[in-house]
Amino acid sequence: MLPILEKLLILQDRDRKLLRLQADLQSVPPQRDLLQGKAARAQSDFDTVKLRGKQLESDRKKLELEVATKQDFIRKCETQQGATKKNEEYKAFQHQIDTTRLEISALEDQQLDLMERAEVIAGEVAAAEKIAKSLKSNVDNQLADLVSREASLKQELQSAIAARAAQVAEIDPDVLPRYERLLKTKGDNIIVGVPQGICGGCHMQMPTYVFNAAKAQQDIVQCINCGRILYYSREMED
Ligand SMILES: [Zn+2]
Repeated sequence: MLPILEKLLILQDRDRKLLRLQADLQSVPPQRDLLQGKAARAQSDFDTVKLRGKQLESDRKKLELEVATKQDFIRKCETQQGATKKNEEYKAFQHQIDTTRLEISALEDQQLDLMERAEVIAGEVAAAEKIAKSLKSNVDNQLADLVSREASLKQELQSAIAARAAQVAEIDPDVLPRYERLLKTKGDNIIVGVPQGICGGCHMQMPTYVFNAAKAQQDIVQCINCGRILYYSREMED
């Protein structure tokens, strides 16, 4: 094989590694966002159910207060009832007392209902808290892994950049721009074989003279369709 083609193949190999590392690094922030989103959603579910629990508790306290006010009212009625000499007034107080007792009884039913619901919510709060906590610790571990992965990827990237620069220095400056241009437009598959005369990049059948030129290995030969640089080895014989 032409020495320049061997060097270009090595360069392509290093570029592939470099591009892979860059892609891996770019995938780190979205992974981090995904993990943080998961933990945040679990926390928000927990907060929501906790809030419902608090709302129930405050409703229950309101009812308690209402009952106390009504009991107070009954006591006042009873005092006034005891003080009156008029039969009509006595009956009116008794009526108020009876009505208020019925109201209290209805409020107490509501209280019971709220207490039952509070018990259910308490179970839900505990479950949501457990989920949020375990998810958070899980996510924290994964985030820590991600941080160390990112650090090692950055290190690998630095060495890959250095390795590429070292190989670039080996390439004939007349050839390098051609390679760099192809790298920009065609990605990392630009030094390709021609098995049975077919371009390994665009898969077009090369005319015989192109295949023969690649076979002769005297000069750099490019695909007449896509411009990729062709290399030949014995197993590509037609
Ligand atoms: Zn081609």
